[in-house]
Amino acid sequence: MTSTLLPKTEYGAAARFLSTSKKLLIDGEWVNAASGKTFETIDPATENKLADIALGGVEDIDRAVTAARKALEQSPWSRMTPSERQRILHRLGDLILENADELAWLESLDNGKPVSVAKVADIPLTADLFHYMAAQIRVLTGDVVPVSDIAVPGAEFHAYTLREPVGVVGLITPWNYPLLIAAGWQMAACLAAGNTVVLKPSEVTPLSILRFGELALEAGIPPGVINIVPGFGADAGARLSSHPDVDKIGFTGSTRTGRGILKAVADSNLKKVTLELGGKSPDIIMDDADLDVAIPGAAEGIFFNHGQCCCAGSRLYVQEKIYDRVVAGISDYAKTIRLGSGQDPNTQMGPLVSQNQENTVLGYIRSGLEEGAELTAGGRKVGDKGFFVEPTVFVNANRNMKMVREEIFGPVLSIERFTDLNDLVRKANDTEYGLGAGIWTTDLSNAHKVAKAIRSGTVFINCYNVFDAAMPFGGYKQSGWGRNRGKEAFEAYTETKAVYVRLDGIHHTSFACR
Ligand code: NDP
Repeated sequence: MTSTLLPKTEYGAAARFLSTSKKLLIDGEWVNAASGKTFETIDPATENKLADIALGGVEDIDRAVTAARKALEQSPWSRMTPSERQRILHRLGDLILENADELAWLESLDNGKPVSVAKVADIPLTADLFHYMAAQIRVLTGDVVPVSDIAVPGAEFHAYTLREPVGVVGLITPWNYPLLIAAGWQMAACLAAGNTVVLKPSEVTPLSILRFGELALEAGIPPGVINIVPGFGADAGARLSSHPDVDKIGFTGSTRTGRGILKAVADSNLKKVTLELGGKSPDIIMDDADLDVAIPGAAEGIFFNHGQCCCAGSRLYVQEKIYDRVVAGISDYAKTIRLGSGQDPNTQMGPLVSQNQENTVLGYIRSGLEEGAELTAGGRKVGDKGFFVEPTVFVNANRNMKMVREEIFGPVLSIERFTDLNDLVRKANDTEYGLGAGIWTTDLSNAHKVAKAIRSGTVFINCYNVFDAAMPFGGYKQSGWGRNRGKEAFEAYTETKAVYVRLDGIHHTSFACR
């Protein structure tokens, strides 16, 4: 399947980086894998090889964890003042923006998304997360807490809490927003809180995060604070989650892999865990919605990033009166989306990320047809090179169908009708997931009532897929544990220490302070 490298002129702003060798970042040095092995990363639009990447394995993860532990205990990182650490993270955010073109090209070539999308979404959002988290460093404080004398009658205390880094953090991340999730969502807060990191990115899309590693060193991140080890989940990922000297795992990926990570953690050192997992998010259009906004909005809610969004609005519920108009509008929208290589400026939707992902998505489309759903748009693979699948819309779908229950992670929408709001809320919540939801209406009261009733970590009203560094993100139910982004991210990446100082004389009169 994979073959020749393209002429470098085809790589646009990514040409220079692609002509260098791709190694692992351990202890501030670019090194080969201990095994000497490499793997290929390919362009999903052409199936051509982009680069050979050093293949990290168990031994490399062990080396990286040792480096991260040493950096935590001995490097300037742990002793830096907040203002020094803040300056470095701001500088890193600036460097991401200064190199936005190159990073956007790398993301497009490796993942398939349009360069234009990476330029306006992935890259600026990543930079903004570094700027936001850098600013938070100065207000990341504990509290002074008034305590009572119940434990020691008559005693007087000064009591306070400290927010301390969790320690060495292992990050394991997916391929849909390779740089944004690994660097922005996960690493920015983790570094701001003073932790050190070993990252195992998805082996499907390692390029942008390796370039980020270069920028991190240029920004002045000390050796060993960020270690990047691309490799396979079953090998490098499994070792990181079961490693006895890792204090925490921050994972973004599927619910199935998340479960496996929890087992590994339970069987090793009970390290802390944050999980950002899958979704099957409901999007709701009510009778009174402005359909000129709601129809393209709901279409983009599923088709943006080729449906490869964890909170994609993949189950659309449409109220009776406007059902036919919405089905026609969304189906027409799907049919006009221009598919092509992400580097073509006319492209609106690129290929899916891999052959595996294409097989998965086409399998769900087949199962929808077998179970009686009806296609109103798309449904087919496009071309014989690259992993292109048409934006697809199903009607006559219901909860009993596999493609309505399970996360597809592709450009496939199922539409159902609803009559009253109570019935709607029951249907919307009838899922094991709880990541996102959309509501399109002009009735403020219904908007807030339904937003409150839906069990999900994020609700978009008259918009979809809006993300901001300052807003928390995470899942209810089986969509995850904990929150990334916003000030809540620091809950995930700090430990809280309680300190009691007794101010009066020493009186051993109680069970406390003996
Ligand atoms: P996977 O769960 O397959 O993989 C995620 C990461 O885990 C990859 O780096 C993978 O490595 C690694 N991994 C695989 N097996 C193991 C293992 N046994 N131990 C440790 N690590 C392992 O997800 P995808 O990469 O396919 O990403 C898509 C999924 O991610 C979807 O379910 C999506 O909803 C979810 N996601 C959730 C988000 C959220 O914020 N809630 C955001 C984005 C995506 P390898 O690449 O080698 O398999």
